[in-house]
Amino acid sequence: MIKDIKGLHHVTSMASNAQQNNAFFTDTLGLRRVKKTVNFDDPSVYHLYYGDEQGTPGTVMTYFPFPHMMTGRPGVGEVGETQFSIPKGSLAFWKDRLIAQGVGGIATDTVFGAGRLRFTGPDGDALALVEANDDARTPWTAEGISADNAIRGFSGARFNLHETASTAELLGFMGYERAETEGDVTRFIIPGGNGADTIDLVALPQTPFARQGAGSVHHIAFAVENREKQLEVRKALMDTGYQVTPVIDRDYFWAIYFRTPGGILFEIATNEPGFDRDEDTAHLGEALKLPSRYEPFRNKIEAGLVPLAA
Ligand code: ZN
Repeated sequence: MIKDIKGLHHVTSMASNAQQNNAFFTDTLGLRRVKKTVNFDDPSVYHLYYGDEQGTPGTVMTYFPFPHMMTGRPGVGEVGETQFSIPKGSLAFWKDRLIAQGVGGIATDTVFGAGRLRFTGPDGDALALVEANDDARTPWTAEGISADNAIRGFSGARFNLHETASTAELLGFMGYERAETEGDVTRFIIPGGNGADTIDLVALPQTPFARQGAGSVHHIAFAVENREKQLEVRKALMDTGYQVTPVIDRDYFWAIYFRTPGGILFEIATNEPGFDRDEDTAHLGEALKLPSRYEPFRNKIEAGLVPLAA
């Protein structure tokens, strides 16, 4: 069994409009844009990262905004909800704020004893804010959102699956412990995690598979401390029969990927080197940063990207 997973590292989704996506995550939700770069495989498309002050693993929501991309169709075999942690007692603030800003899909309920505010992002992204009693992570604060209310990072994610057994087995192998079941939702928790510690599995045997598009999660990444731990995790997964990619340098972390039996693309990402490797913490996310192989084409790439508000 693997003992080095520390919770989520980041969640990467797709969007149809970079400016709209940037405004939603920085203004409406009050996250910090910690990196403005481009897709490694298609430098005509941004890769935007939003998180806390430093882009701490477990806080980082990232997007590929493909201009005019079709909206995805929700279904099974995907991350069905990305959940952010907010302080207990702040749910009413957020409900008022999201209603005032015209955010869609707003609904409140209680899951595993915690207040939850569900809503949709600009492309129908399934998002939720979940109240937590004891989340000690220091939040980034933005205009109109005090530290008493600000998002702390992810609390976790919900997976919509055709069947849950194979993913439950995988999570167990990754070090997650099965916790409560509430209705058709079973919760898994990683001990000693970074705060983004829960994965909820939902079995939806009658639901068709999702079709990915704007608003869909592309992949979900789990955190390991460093490259040595990552190689150990890679070996353990491969010894168990998973097809895992070689280690890929993503500039701000190293990544390996594998497809789960339930259809979700998992990544294991390192906490090193972090988002301050090529710019000061005070100015994270301001300048366009390019993977080194695209630097010779900076003028052309920059001219093709829409400008984003700071
Ligand atoms: Zn990733």
